[in-house]
Amino acid sequence: MKAILFHNHGGPEVLEYADIPGLELKPGEVLIRVRAAALNRLDIWVRNGWPGIKLEYPHIPGADGAGEVVAISSLPEGDGSGVKVGDHVVINANLSCGRCEFCLAGHDNMCREWKLLGEGARGTFREYIALPAKQLFKLPIDFDLRTAAAAGLIYHTAWHSLVVRGGLKPGEKVLVVGASGGVNTACIVIAKHLGAQVIVVGSGVEKLKLAESLGADILIDRQKEPEWSKAVYTATQKRGVEVVVDNVGTTFPLSFRAARKGGRILTVVNTGGPKFEIDNRFIFNKHLNILGSTMGTLKDFTEVMTLVSTGKLEVALDKTFPLQDARAAEERLESGQQLGKITLEI
Ligand code: ZN
Repeated sequence: MKAILFHNHGGPEVLEYADIPGLELKPGEVLIRVRAAALNRLDIWVRNGWPGIKLEYPHIPGADGAGEVVAISSLPEGDGSGVKVGDHVVINANLSCGRCEFCLAGHDNMCREWKLLGEGARGTFREYIALPAKQLFKLPIDFDLRTAAAAGLIYHTAWHSLVVRGGLKPGEKVLVVGASGGVNTACIVIAKHLGAQVIVVGSGVEKLKLAESLGADILIDRQKEPEWSKAVYTATQKRGVEVVVDNVGTTFPLSFRAARKGGRILTVVNTGGPKFEIDNRFIFNKHLNILGSTMGTLKDFTEVMTLVSTGKLEVALDKTFPLQDARAAEERLESGQQLGKITLEI
């Protein structure tokens, strides 16, 4: 079968479109003909590498995918996934052991043996993939597979952060720092679905327009308002917001200012870099809660993909590329020109 792979870290030039051997199903596994995959910034971070990262080479990138079930090995007794040959499915990239104390308590995104497709395990940028049935969510047969693949990781992550960790309630005000990243756009859509008011700080007219098209109520252009916490204060009658979605990290000082007393700061990634200075006085004086998480649980995936696959949560799509052009697709993601998710057709 065809796949995108690489043998060493580096720029987009290390990606190869190559043949790899076919798969043999283990008991309990499902073979999926992948029809669509989606790109995440994580693919670029893994390709570039970081100190201590260990990959099994050749590495296949890709966390997100959707496709058709083509074969099923004997499923364990009581398997509730209910998938059968011919079904369309979207893949949950979070691999967990199902046995450790975290998995048994339903916190499988904290699993002791947690791995992510495209990072700790070979990913979705290929024609076929074999996965345990619990990794699959069955889609309506006419649901667009590109949209499903694009939704996977970002909606899963955004749901866990906003709903499970953040406990977002109708009528609350949510500030999303950054208008165009995948998780941020998913947070805008989920927050609106839950009846919150959404303020977005973004850079430039185009990205703010995307946020507006997804339902954002108040837009702040940080090119015009670099001290945007003041604009948030003005927009909230000097009360601040209950929830801040800050996946930049280096913007925490401004997010602390923009939060109201007792506010929740949610973070799942740090696109601005991992280390920065904070003023601790804001945390205790304002009774702030800083709530970190990564990805989501099996239960979250079912909940959020039910909403996506019934059209209740819109997914912003950018360009699509054929699998063999994954290099061009990653170059587009690195350039930051995309508005919505970049996908691969396989
Ligand atoms: Zn586990």
